[in-house]
Order: sequence, then C-alpha cells, then structure tokens
Amino acid sequence: MQAILQVENLRVYFTTIEGDCKSVDGVSFRVYNKEILGIAGESGCGKSTLIEGILRLVKSPGYIKSGKVLFAGSDLLRLKERNLRKIRWKELSYIPQGCMNALNPVLRIEEQIVDGIVTHTDLSGEKAKEMTSSALNAVGMPSEVAGMYPHELSGGMRQRVAIAMSTCLRPSLVLADEPVTALDVIMQRLNLQTIAELKERFGMTVVLVAHDMACHAEICDRICIMYAGRLMEIGIVDQLFQKPLHPYTKGLLEAVPSLERRRVKSIAGLAPSPLNWPRGCRFHPRCPFQKEVCGKKEPVLREVGSEHYVACHLYGD
Ligand code: SF4
Repeated sequence: MQAILQVENLRVYFTTIEGDCKSVDGVSFRVYNKEILGIAGESGCGKSTLIEGILRLVKSPGYIKSGKVLFAGSDLLRLKERNLRKIRWKELSYIPQGCMNALNPVLRIEEQIVDGIVTHTDLSGEKAKEMTSSALNAVGMPSEVAGMYPHELSGGMRQRVAIAMSTCLRPSLVLADEPVTALDVIMQRLNLQTIAELKERFGMTVVLVAHDMACHAEICDRICIMYAGRLMEIGIVDQLFQKPLHPYTKGLLEAVPSLERRRVKSIAGLAPSPLNWPRGCRFHPRCPFQKEVCGKKEPVLREVGSEHYVACHLYGD
C-alpha cells in the first residue's frame, strides 16, 4: 500500500524549568493513501502534540527536537514557511481540537469560509462564496447556514462548519484532532459518519485523534495506540479490537463499556510524567504482565503479523 504521509522518529519537547517535557518521544508510522488512521490513548499521552508536530504548529516553549515528516515529496519539518502555507488547506488540512469554539463569533459563517479560501488560493471572492455553499451542503447543512453567526448554531452544527471549512478545498490529507469531543453520542456518530462520507466522496485520507475507542471502531481502518509519548501497537481495527496484543491496548479496551461486560475495568496506576518517563518499558509500572527485562530495556515496535506492530517484550525474540 502506498503511504501518503510518513513520520520518522518524531520528537516534540517542551522546555520547562524542571527540564525537557518529552511529549512525543520518537514516533514513527505511515498513513496509507485513502485510509482513516486512528490515534488513540489516554489524555496526556501526546496525541494532540503529535498532530501539531506533523503540521509544525507547536507553540513555544514547545519545539521539534528531531524527526522527519514526509508528505508530497517534501519533509514538512524542513519546508520554508512560505511553501508550507501553499499546501496547508489545499493539500493538508486540520480540524483542530475544540474546533466548535474556534469560529469567530462576530463574523457570519460565509465570511469565515470565504476568508480561508481566498487566503489559500487565487480564487475570487465570488467563486469562494459559491464554494461555501457547496462545502456546507457536503457536510449535510443547508446553504442558509452561510448567512448565520456561530451563536445561532448548536455545538454539533458548529463542529460541522469546522469540518466544512477544513475540507472545502478537498485536501488529500485531513488531520482531525478530537473532532467530536464534547458532543452527545448522536451528534458524535453523525459527525463521524460525515467525515467518513467526505473521505469516500472526495478520496481523502484522514488521521483521526480520539481518546474514545468507540470513535475509532466506528470509522477507522487502522489504529495506532499511543502511551507516554511512544507508539505501543499499530494494527487493523478488527484485529486490534478482537485480538489486542499489548497489555496497554488490552487495558484500554477493557475500559470501554459494552453490553456483554457488566463492569468496566480501569487501568491500575497513573500515567507517568513526560518529564521523567519510566526506564525500560514506559508501561511497566502499570503492567500486570511485566517481567524482569521490562524495567531495564525499552521494547521496540516490531512487526508481529500482517500490518500488526507491537512494542512489548512478550512478543518477538
Ligand atoms: Fe508489560 Fe513488559 Fe510488555 Fe511493557 S514490555 S507492556 S511491561 S510485558
């Protein structure tokens, strides 16, 4: 399968008075053309920072320590800002976390979408207005929404506007950071389906960050499981839900409520501090299967089956 995005050994750190906070600490993965790749993990594991690192949106005191992000024949981390701006929105787009509050409250929806189109293309304002209407229709909203202010829309509708804005130029890759958080389950489902439909209709590739495993089960093809700034397991959704290998993935799935399971089980212990990740396997202080080697040597992510990778001493040699 052809990769549209390749992340190699990405490290994103934050400078603090206590030392470097290693939020993303050596992450490598590929995103295949036209798939939906999920990134899952507990809050604070580095998912959002990973997306900001890929897009070079990390703000000071954060910085990109090292790595490569290969997209459309270039390393995004080394591209001139001017060239990066040319591909943002048009080829590579972003649905930010909390996007339903990211709209300007004093501008009508049309002005906000037109502004984005005109800034990132050579198109006229008139053409951009026409595109606004079709962008709203593509996410299941009537054209009349263009003349409304954000406060006239529900949270779920504002979220849809944000999805329409991010996809109106039909980018080949969309990075969506918690795009359905803070919505009720019905709206969550509708908006996830909208993302999946847009992906099919316009041949897009999507990276979906969500802490809720149910969101991944709903629309993703593959999932990356992230913990303590590193990837612990990567696999095809069915494979990962039916036969998870990494103890952390198992713990995450046991914490999902289901009709069969009467009680949900939380993962024992607390997530470690990014200022001082545990030595060896970063999950070892919480792992019920730990062995002697686990506290001494960090396991590497290795292929254990077709499209299935795991970083755990229980598998491999
Ligand atoms: Fe548990 Fe050891 Fe595997 Fe880490 S490497 S997840 S501590 S068994």
